[in-house]
Amino acid sequence: MRRRNAPASPPTDPHLAGPFPFTARLRGMSTGGALALLLAAVGAVGIWVLAVGHAERRAVEAVAADARHRLEIYANNLDSAVERFDYLPTVAARDPAVAALAAAGFGHTDPVEVDRVNRYLEAVNASAGSAVLYLMDAEGRTVASSNWNRPDSYVGVDFSYRPYFRDARDQGVGRFYGVGTVTRLPGYFIAAPVERDGRRVGVLAVKIVLDALEDGWRTSHDAVLVADRFGIVFLSSNPEWKFRARRPLDPDTVTYLNETREYVGLDHPPLVLPRSLRTHPDLLVERGLSRYGWTIALAADAHPVAQAAATARIGLALLLLLALAIGLYVRQRVKRLREQRLAKAALDRAYQDLERQVEARTADLRDAQAELVQAAKLAMIGQVAAGVTHELNQPLTALRALADNARLLLDQGRQAEVSQNLTHIAGLVDRMAKISSQLRNFSRRSEGPAQPVALPGAVQEALALLDRRLKEARVQVTVDVPEVTVAFDPVRLQQVLVNLIRNAEDATAGVAEPHIAITAVPALLDQRAAVRVTVADNGPGLDPAVRDRLFDPFVTTKPGGQGLGLGLAISLAIAQEYGGQLEARDGDDGGAVFLLTLPLISVEHDDAIT
Ligand code: ADP
Repeated sequence: MRRRNAPASPPTDPHLAGPFPFTARLRGMSTGGALALLLAAVGAVGIWVLAVGHAERRAVEAVAADARHRLEIYANNLDSAVERFDYLPTVAARDPAVAALAAAGFGHTDPVEVDRVNRYLEAVNASAGSAVLYLMDAEGRTVASSNWNRPDSYVGVDFSYRPYFRDARDQGVGRFYGVGTVTRLPGYFIAAPVERDGRRVGVLAVKIVLDALEDGWRTSHDAVLVADRFGIVFLSSNPEWKFRARRPLDPDTVTYLNETREYVGLDHPPLVLPRSLRTHPDLLVERGLSRYGWTIALAADAHPVAQAAATARIGLALLLLLALAIGLYVRQRVKRLREQRLAKAALDRAYQDLERQVEARTADLRDAQAELVQAAKLAMIGQVAAGVTHELNQPLTALRALADNARLLLDQGRQAEVSQNLTHIAGLVDRMAKISSQLRNFSRRSEGPAQPVALPGAVQEALALLDRRLKEARVQVTVDVPEVTVAFDPVRLQQVLVNLIRNAEDATAGVAEPHIAITAVPALLDQRAAVRVTVADNGPGLDPAVRDRLFDPFVTTKPGGQGLGLGLAISLAIAQEYGGQLEARDGDDGGAVFLLTLPLISVEHDDAIT
């Protein structure tokens, strides 16, 4: 008997099983995985910072460009608002009455003339749209003014300390921005000399209020400021910024401001720009107004920048999430593929192991079956031998008698009768040789391939082997088998038929008129042409106690060691070995029926054999 292969050890895989798979994974993470994760995080933060920064810069550039454009418009507006009045004092000063009054000087004037000039200035001022138009004598005292009839009239007020007065008198033109000492209203002053007979006898000044510009800026929601040459904001859409200093004032400037009373003693705390401008200084666009020594600046709205940054953040967050999701998916996929590969390898190993085991078991079974068949055959030979011995005794006795008789006849010279005797003897010897050859055939261990076997012949040979027994038991056997050829081993087929017929004969032992019917009809076996041989008897039928186990080895109901219980088991094994089938059922009229289905020889098979 072949030794079984030792079962292969169960598949072990450090990734799939093992006592500490989780810690193993963590350990894996702490090196390569953790480093990759850290790099990815650093990369993500870097991309985030760069991209958000880039989006902000782009937005700042766009907003600043737009702001510069508007700043240009505001600067032009401011310029034209002032320019409109540039020649007003010069032109108004040409009036001889004006010059005469200035020349007369404050305190020496004719009230009628003063009144005339007052009204003249008032009319010009009204039509030009300026704030105040007033005339000063050479000492800077106001002799006539467009606001002569108002409570805050300039008439009599001394403006000699104002730079515009001195500049106009001494240099021909005076320009100045300041808060009115009388009105407390800030304004722009343009002054021109009043000349009489080639002499500068006074100064005519116009004050312009630029508040309307501020209103315009405010309505367009722009934060605009105009600062003087010292950096003091004097016009702004934001009232909070007004009169604040964009840079620290040096002591000389402070002294100058006090002297000229430019801002009539107002404080100039430092200008604090909004935080967004400190973060993005480019949002503050400015340009000089060289004609006046001023600077106009526009603080652009930082909201679009914040919005662009927020959009970039959201976009980036989505992108990073997408990247993360893709990363996780890829990781999962790689892991699953690895696991699948490992599982497949484990499965392959297990399969190979199983195949080896199946092979070993099959070989064992084949051996056991062969041994069993052989053992059963020997057991049967024992039983058959008894019958055969009896069968041989008869012709032996006859041979003896014929031989003795032949000797006597020879002595008597009866040649013809001797010859007859000898022919008889030869016939008996033939019969004996046949019996012994059948016995030899039966006991031979045969594992031959299927070959064409004529079914009627096989049945007859089986019956011949059992002839004596059947006769003794007075069993009536009827055979109705067509001339068909089956694909089987002849010896094995005989063995199976002998088994079935013998069992039938055993079953009919106590029956008054024992009968065995052997028939065969065409059938199908796994879609192939076959023949079904039926061995039916009129015995007691199948014992319910063993009906379900008939084909199991060592199942027998025969008493006192008469049966081994191997016949059917071996017969079934043989039938199946050659692609046949063996079944049992109750007969319609009592008794048992055994159905042996045998494959018919196929055409190719037939060809191969012939
Ligand atoms: P054995 O003949 O040694 O008992 P078998 O395997 O040939 O072994 O038969 C097993 C059993 O099947 C028999 O003991 C018997 O109970 C039953 N059996 C077989 N053939 C018949 C039959 N023709 N009628 C009734 N019972 C049968």
